[in-house]
Amino acid sequence: MSAVNLGLPRMRGPHGVSEPRPDNPALIDTFGRVATDLRVSLTDRCNLRCSYCMPAEGLPWLPGEAVLTDDELMRLLRIAVERLGVTDIRLTGGEPLLRPGLEELIARIAELRPRPRLSMTTNGIGLARRAVRLAEAGLNRINISLDTINPETFLAIARRDRLSHVLDGLAAAREAGLDPVKVNAVLLRGVNEHEAADLLRFCLDHGYHLRFIEQMPLDAQHGWNRRDMVTAEEILALLRAEFTLTPASEPRGGAPAERWLVDGGPGDVGVIASVTRPFCSACERTRLTADGAVRSCLFSNDETDLRGLLRNGADDEEVAQAWRMTMWGKLAGHEINDAGFAQPIRPMSAIGG
Ligand code: SAM
Ligand code: SF4
Repeated sequence: MSAVNLGLPRMRGPHGVSEPRPDNPALIDTFGRVATDLRVSLTDRCNLRCSYCMPAEGLPWLPGEAVLTDDELMRLLRIAVERLGVTDIRLTGGEPLLRPGLEELIARIAELRPRPRLSMTTNGIGLARRAVRLAEAGLNRINISLDTINPETFLAIARRDRLSHVLDGLAAAREAGLDPVKVNAVLLRGVNEHEAADLLRFCLDHGYHLRFIEQMPLDAQHGWNRRDMVTAEEILALLRAEFTLTPASEPRGGAPAERWLVDGGPGDVGVIASVTRPFCSACERTRLTADGAVRSCLFSNDETDLRGLLRNGADDEEVAQAWRMTMWGKLAGHEINDAGFAQPIRPMSAIGG
C-alpha cells in the first residue's frame, strides 16, 4: 500500500524526475505542491539524548568547518525568501539554542523582506534567560518539546535530569510574548503513554498548545518499530478517557496537526499522525541542514549540497535553481508504510525536525 495517494502518477525516471520543470520561480514539485515553509537546522548538536532521537552516547557531530557560517546561512535564507517564495522559517536542530550568536542571527533573518514569519523548535534548556532577547530579536513563535511533567520519566526519556529547566523555559517563552507557545510530545509505549492526560492538563492550565507527534523511524540508532509506536488513535483514546474532544472546525491546510477542542474549548490539543495518517499531499516544507544540504522531505534519500555551490563561487540564481530542482524531485509521500521503506541515512537530529 502506498503511504499516500495523490491520485497522480509518479513522474520519475531512474535518475530522478523526468518531467521538465516549468519556468516558475517558486519551489514547486511535480505533484503541484509549493514549498513556502523552510525548516533550517542550525546545528546537529544537542544537550539531551531523547531515546527516540539519539543513542545515549550521542553522535559524531559535524566538524565546525562543515557547518554553514552565519553569512553563508543568511545568503541561503535571503535567496529562499527573495527568489523562492519562502514565507515561513523555522529554526531547529539538533538543539538550536546551542548555536552561537542565535539572537544576532534571528535579528538578521527578521530584516529579510518580505519579512518571514519566524519560529523555533527547541528543547527549552537555557530558554528561561534568553526568551526575552529572542523575542526582541524577532522570533514570533516557539515549539518546546516536553514529553512528560514527571521528573523521573523525563530522566528516563531524555537521559538528563533537566525537567525544571524546560518548565522554566516554557514559562519564560509565554512571559516574553511568544505566541503561540506550543508543546511537542512523543509518547513511548510503557514509558510515558499513561501520562498523556496529565501532560494535556498541565498545558491547558498554562495556556500552552499541546501537540502529540507519532514516533517516526528517524532515530539514529534505528530502534523504531511499528508495534511500539503509540498511534494517533491510541493517543486520542487515552485523552478521551479524561476529556471531551471535538474536532476543531477550521481547515487544516498544510498544518500537520489534526486539532481538537478540549471540553468545548478554548483549550486545544493536536495530534500529528505522520505515520498512520500521513499528510504528505498537503506538504509545504523544504529543509536545510546545518551543513547546507537542501532536502525535499525528512525522509528523502537525496539531498543537494548548496554549501559546495556557495563555496565554489556560484551566483544566487545558480543556487536558487539547484534548490528548485531538488524540490521538483520531491516524492509523493514518505513511504513509511511501504514494504520497501528504508530509513534515511541522516537521523532527525542531523536533518532538523
Ligand atoms: N532539539 C529540539 C527539540 O527537541 O525540540 C529541536 C530538534 S528535535 C529533532 C524536533 C522535534 O522532533 C522534537 O519535538 C522532537 O520531539 C521530535 N522528534 C525527534 N525524534 C523524533 C521521532 N523519532 N519521531 C517523532 N518526533 C521526533
Ligand atoms: Fe535533542 Fe531534540 Fe533530539 Fe531530544 S529530540 S535528543 S532535544 S534533538
